[in-house]
Amino acid sequence: MSKETFQEKLIVFTAPSGAGKTTIVRHLIKQYDFLGFSVSATNRKMREGEEEGKDYYFLSTEEFKEKIHQQEFVEWEEVYSGQYYGTLKSEIERLWSLKKYIIFDIEVNGASSIKEKFGDNAHVVFVKPPSLEILIQRLKNRKTETEASLKKRIRRVKRELSFENSFDYILVNDVLDTTLKEAEVLTESFFFGKLI
Ligand code: 5GP
Repeated sequence: MSKETFQEKLIVFTAPSGAGKTTIVRHLIKQYDFLGFSVSATNRKMREGEEEGKDYYFLSTEEFKEKIHQQEFVEWEEVYSGQYYGTLKSEIERLWSLKKYIIFDIEVNGASSIKEKFGDNAHVVFVKPPSLEILIQRLKNRKTETEASLKKRIRRVKRELSFENSFDYILVNDVLDTTLKEAEVLTESFFFGKLI
């Protein structure tokens, strides 16, 4: 890609937890050098296999709140009670200064805020599970959740599914390979204007 044609654009994959957006986003990052992943900040505990600065910027609750106070976030949400997640302005600036198109993996409220702020320069894709039952099963299969956090996630999922019509595109994640191909087409077409 020629640097002259670079525009400050971004693509957001949003979905209820467990709909498969992380798998899609990871696939696209591997596929395309021109994408840079927006590493969010959070105060939740680091999971096994996660890395500081790669998966998240892991902050204490105090640090997170201080950054809210200092207006360092483009958007932030208390996704679960006491668990904060947010996109730092500095992260967006960092990626755009590297001439990367930014890809986000964030929940629906954050996705709405990003769309509001960036308008046509943002493309928001809502990843939809084939059914609520399948989604609940996927969440259970993950085994990263305790019984209580699973319940919290299921409650939230039901509300999040109602957002589907607020975004630019609905991507139904039924057969993963097909979904990944469709996500590639969407990405190329948004950044490079290819027809789909
Ligand atoms: P997890 O704890 O499973 O990594 O993430 C929980 C939820 O928070 C997921 O839906 C994830 O996409 C979302 N999330 C991650 N980073 C951000 C962020 O910066 N802002 C918002 N609004 N949500 C985020």
